[in-house]
Amino acid sequence: MRVDQALAEVLARCAPLPAEPAALDVLTGRVLAADVDAPCDLPGFDNAAMDGYALALADRSAHAGEQFEVAGEQAAGDPARASTTACAIMTGARLPDGLDTVVPIEDTRPADPGTGEGPARIVLTAAVRPGQHVRRAGEDLVRGTPALSAGTRIGPAQLMLLAALGVDAAPVRRRPAVAVLCTGRELVDDPRQPLASGEIRNSNGPFLRAALAAAGARVLPGPASVPDDPAAFGTALVAALADGADLVVSTGAVSMGRYDFIPEVLAALPARTVFHRLRMRPGKPLLFAVLPGGALFFGLPGNPVSSAVGLRFFVLPALQALLGVPGERPLQARLSREARKKSGLTLFQKARVFQQPDGALAVDLLPGQESFRIAPLARANAWAVLPEDGESLAAGTPVAVYPLAPADAWPDPSPPATRP
Ligand code: AMP
Ligand code: MG
Repeated sequence: MRVDQALAEVLARCAPLPAEPAALDVLTGRVLAADVDAPCDLPGFDNAAMDGYALALADRSAHAGEQFEVAGEQAAGDPARASTTACAIMTGARLPDGLDTVVPIEDTRPADPGTGEGPARIVLTAAVRPGQHVRRAGEDLVRGTPALSAGTRIGPAQLMLLAALGVDAAPVRRRPAVAVLCTGRELVDDPRQPLASGEIRNSNGPFLRAALAAAGARVLPGPASVPDDPAAFGTALVAALADGADLVVSTGAVSMGRYDFIPEVLAALPARTVFHRLRMRPGKPLLFAVLPGGALFFGLPGNPVSSAVGLRFFVLPALQALLGVPGERPLQARLSREARKKSGLTLFQKARVFQQPDGALAVDLLPGQESFRIAPLARANAWAVLPEDGESLAAGTPVAVYPLAPADAWPDPSPPATRP
């Protein structure tokens, strides 16, 4: 199956999970299940943007040399009050009723020594526009208008906005529960355990758990790895379903070797295999099935980079769809040198995106693309995707580049909406 067709098959089975309320202090990393409208104006009241003096100018400007009588002071946190003369004012202080303009202290000097509390009269040392240095109520957000839209992942900035608005809870998507099952009798899970001859460390397990948790999944506890034994794997699979897994991700045992037993375990369940083997490299034997009860199964090949590609381009998009996050669109970057590939396979390449002197994005395909090589993956800052058709891509050809994880911080390739 083609990669794009396979992804469509996956996403067709990923309706957003139900919503649940979450309190502000546990919202980080969660995805909004509904739009949040501003429950109040932000700022909530007209206030000073500078330390200085609040004046009543109405519609006129004031010129340098003009004097104002000053009475009293308004600090941040002081309640509303009316004033008929100018007053000293601090940043964030509510503008007294009757005053409409703030002149920064550095644009004034005392007209007389005053009483020690501050001058009783000030002289302007610069011209003043009416309404200057005032932050208007609702200038940031007007009550009842959209603050954040459904599908937004809550990060620190979104949390800042919700906190400012006094939103104490919001509806979010239930976190998808994901089980990770690494197969292979060669795998050692305990990093302190010495390796016996022929053994290797389980690196896919920690990778998958970390990546899934970072993407918003609830990673279920479970065996770190399972031996190459169909019965043991079947038992672990059934246990994951009993634990409420929405997704089960396995690594290994989906290729053509003697111990590649996953297809037979799935057939016996019975699960419905949607695809097994894609026109891509690495990670060609990727298997996708629907388990009894409707949970989705991704059988990723065991080679570390194959499992990383399967995770990045199939499992994480499924997770995003379950969370109601809109689909991502890649940026285009120019190949820094010519690339050759086999026609008929989409190629996923460990890559570094960088900026050329003219400002354009370029991408360097890293040496060491073999699917067992983890070190270049740890140096990569992106995946480059070379399309299925074609064998030779000249230097300068634009290709799709994706961040290592679907990231809200990655620039949206569409130009900003035109501003009024
Ligand atoms: P398999 O897909 O089971 O044939 O495994 C392919 C290759 O990936 C073999 O070299 C395995 O030893 C290796 N491999 C499988 N699972 C893991 C794992 N969890 N961590 C690191 N390497 C693995
Ligand atoms: Mg294996």
